[in-house]
This record gives sequence, structure tokens and C-alpha cells, in this order.
Amino acid sequence: MIEFQNVSKWFGALQVLRDVNATVAKGTTTVLCGPSGSGKSTLIRTVNRLEPIQKGQITLAGRDIYAKDVDVNVLRSGIGFVFQQFNLFPHLSVVENVMLPLLRIRERSRAQARPVAMQMLERVGLADKANSLPADISGGQSQRVAIARSLILKPEVLVLDEPTSALDPEMVGEVLKLLRELSADGITMMCVTHEMGFAREVADRIWFLRNGTLTFDAEPAQFFSDEAHQDVRNFLSAVR
Ligand code: ADP
Ligand code: MG
Repeated sequence: MIEFQNVSKWFGALQVLRDVNATVAKGTTTVLCGPSGSGKSTLIRTVNRLEPIQKGQITLAGRDIYAKDVDVNVLRSGIGFVFQQFNLFPHLSVVENVMLPLLRIRERSRAQARPVAMQMLERVGLADKANSLPADISGGQSQRVAIARSLILKPEVLVLDEPTSALDPEMVGEVLKLLRELSADGITMMCVTHEMGFAREVADRIWFLRNGTLTFDAEPAQFFSDEAHQDVRNFLSAVR
């Protein structure tokens, strides 16, 4: 579904991605981990061209995302993005937040969009909060709403950047449970997270980035074994 070939990126003189080569297979979940500043956010943001690359190639479903005929808005609407901060519009109700991409990007009427958004809220277990304002729901619920919104256009890929890092500890579980279900449903997912229990249980592949280099790319069994790269073992003993 996604292929990175020799992907390199610089911010000015600072190289933040170094010849990244990796593949995300359709229907799989990939967890990205690594120390702060290693390039995880930058790497996932290259997929929808939020961060341009200076070298290499990224293909999505076989198409170079920089091909001349690729419309960046179409590209972006095919990739659901979820951030640490939920970025819900505070003046809109929960269901209106979820409907928004259908109104703005698909130009659907409110009457068409609302039932689709309600279905998505049912999927994330929040139909009963449809008419609440973001300020009146919890952080965990807000992130589930943000996930519902990111799925409303039926993206080919769901990309999440530390989706539970801004949450109080007691709310992490409900978000991870939803992600586990989405993964089991077969959505293609790339998730930056430090939740190693989640990675072990849910990921098909775990990528480890250090200083812009993908130093390890393995199945969980290998990632958590003694054979893992020394970098990975050091990292795991620090996060545990
Ligand atoms: P991570 O998500 O793994 O913590 P990032 O991808 O955010 O790492 O950052 C990788 C490196 O790029 C860091 O050194 C960071 O300071 C730098 N960086 C990130 N965004 C910018 C930017 N917009 N301008 C300059 N440097 C940046
Ligand atoms: Mg980051």
C-alpha cells in the first residue's frame, strides 16, 4: 500500500530522514517508535505531502505521490490523519465535527452527511454524544471522535501520530481498544506510539527510527526478542 524508497529529508542543513526504505502492506498495522526527535512525525507526514521530501520516492497504492497528475487534495482525502491534539472545532457538536469532511470535501448536504456521521459515531461507541460539544466530553472520547472524523471519507490508510500521548492514563485504554478493533477490521494503519503493549499485540511490523535512520523493521516477536538491534533494546529498557 505504501512504499518508501531511499526517502531523505532535510530541514535546512539538518538531515532528518536518511534513505528510509520500507513497505507497508495493505491491511496491516505498522507501529513506529524511536527516541524523541528521531523523525517519526516527519516520516508519517511525508505520506500525504505535509512534509516534502528532497530525495527518494513514496508510492501509495502503486502511484508516486509526487507524480504530476496527483492532486494533493485528493491524495490527502485518501489518508486519514489523527494527531496527539484532537483538533476538534469547539463551536461544533460532535456529530458536526465528524460530518465536516463530507460537507467540505465531498460537498454533501447536511441531510446526506448526518446519517453517515452517526454510523461512524456508532462505530466508535459515541452515538450518545452526537449532540455534545467537545468541551463536554472526555479526552478519550474526543480522540475517538477525531478518529471517527478521520475515517468518514473511507481513507485507504489511517495514520496516527502519538494518538494517546495527550490523554490522562485512564483514557488511553479506550483509544487503544478502538485502534485494536480497526486493525482487526483490516484497515491499513501507521501509528507512532510509545505504547509497547499495544505494539506487541496489534502491530504486524514495528519500525524503529533513530536519528532519521530506520535501524530496525521487524515483526513484534523479533522486535521484543534478544535478537533485536542494540538500539531497540536500549530504547525498550528506557520506556518500560
Ligand atoms: P519525532 O516525531 O521522532 O520526535 P520529528 O519528526 O518531530 O521527530 O523531528 C525530527 C527532527 O526534525 C528533530 O530534530 C526536529 O527538531 C526537526 N524538525 C521537525 N520539524 C521541524 C521544522 N518544521 N523545522 C526544522 N526542524 C524540524
Ligand atoms: Mg513526533
